[in-house]
Amino acid sequence: MTNRTFTMIKPDAFGNGHTGAILQKIEAAGFKFIALKLTKLSAEKAGEFYAVHAARPFYGELVEFMSSGPIVAAILEKDNAVEEFRKLIGATNPANADEGTIRKIFAESIGRNAVHGSDSDENAAIEGNFFFSGFERI
Ligand code: ATP
Ligand code: MG
Repeated sequence: MTNRTFTMIKPDAFGNGHTGAILQKIEAAGFKFIALKLTKLSAEKAGEFYAVHAARPFYGELVEFMSSGPIVAAILEKDNAVEEFRKLIGATNPANADEGTIRKIFAESIGRNAVHGSDSDENAAIEGNFFFSGFERI
């Protein structure tokens, strides 16, 4: 295990004005920000980020949604960060997410589910490098 993960606040949560509340929950859960930015993905970049899902039936919808508005990207630090962060955000489908999790509180649906969280240490490093250069992180 390493102590870093990567997250995005997705276009639904940003557009609904939940960015501040989500960042506050992340900090309150003991994560430290190593990098943070507001940006917008092109369809091409969103497709590249989620390329692992290219064969799935929801891929087109996912790419369209993730490039539909601004996102907030961050690298986070905490012991056992990947697992701890996925606990904080809850299940992919908010209908199955535990009470108090970020997706339970802020997600609209399985597709518009408020936040991304890396699923492994390896992907956390790849995803952090996708968004941030060396001088954009502390
Ligand atoms: P993420 O990678 O965004 O943190 P996750 O790891 O919980 O989410 P994945 O299986 O990696 O879930 O799916 C990536 C994203 O694709 C989901 O967060 C969701 O936005 C979308 N997605 C997954 N399954 C579906 C589905 N059945 N219908 C529509 N969108 C879906
Ligand atoms: Mg995933």
